[in-house]
Amino acid sequence: MKTDVLGVQYDNLTMAEALARGRELLTGDKAAYVVTPNAEMAYEALHDEEFCRVLNEADLVLPDGAGVVLGAKILKTPLKQKVAGIEFAQNMLPVYEELGSRLYLLGSKPGVAEQAAEKLLQEHSKLCICGTADGYFRDEDEVVRKINEANADALYVCLGAPKQEYFMYRHREELNVRLMAGLGGTLDGIAGTVKRAPRWMIRLQLEWLYRLIKEPRRFGRMLRLPKFVFAALKKRMKGE
Ligand code: UDP
Repeated sequence: MKTDVLGVQYDNLTMAEALARGRELLTGDKAAYVVTPNAEMAYEALHDEEFCRVLNEADLVLPDGAGVVLGAKILKTPLKQKVAGIEFAQNMLPVYEELGSRLYLLGSKPGVAEQAAEKLLQEHSKLCICGTADGYFRDEDEVVRKINEANADALYVCLGAPKQEYFMYRHREELNVRLMAGLGGTLDGIAGTVKRAPRWMIRLQLEWLYRLIKEPRRFGRMLRLPKFVFAALKKRMKGE
């Protein structure tokens, strides 16, 4: 079931349900794409029709972040839970191991995808990572060709928003994969080049504050979070 949060149609699922859906898509007959819009991205979509359409046409739309969950609550259409892209990406790994699916990692600065692959293989010995490439390429067709040559079944696209969503959307017909997901800074997180917030901060829904302290240049972008919450409040007040 879809839940509309300011124009973005989220799948209202628990993590377990999202993983079951991921497994279904992985064994499906087309290149399905998963998006994980946080509040910043949803706010962007509010002002960018094309981006909003690309998000809504995805096969799975997961609410990444406490801001989206709060927005849905304000609009009185609560979501079951936050399903963070990085957690979805990690929780799908045992499924790839079980099904013998081949995973390709695309994105981040040169070397990061390889480092992330090493980390993943330390914990998932049966995982097959069939290729890696950094996210600073000129020729998209060349990248698509490499992914197809690697016979990937699953593809993590970590190019930041909206680049990663447009990449998946544009190439979904040519890419010979089954499941791809746009996952922002996930490879940095896995490789450890950008640390995730400590657990207590994640628990208190303060991951955004941690990122802001670590990367103050994100301030402008992060203002979209309160703007998003404000837009939800405005809509609710108008609706009543
Ligand atoms: N990135 C990339 N190619 C680009 C621009 C960005 O691979 O042309 C990577 C960047 O190195 C980073 C990720 O995309 O690893 C985006 O990270 P960010 O934290 O900005 O993503 P968010 O999840 O906040 O959108």
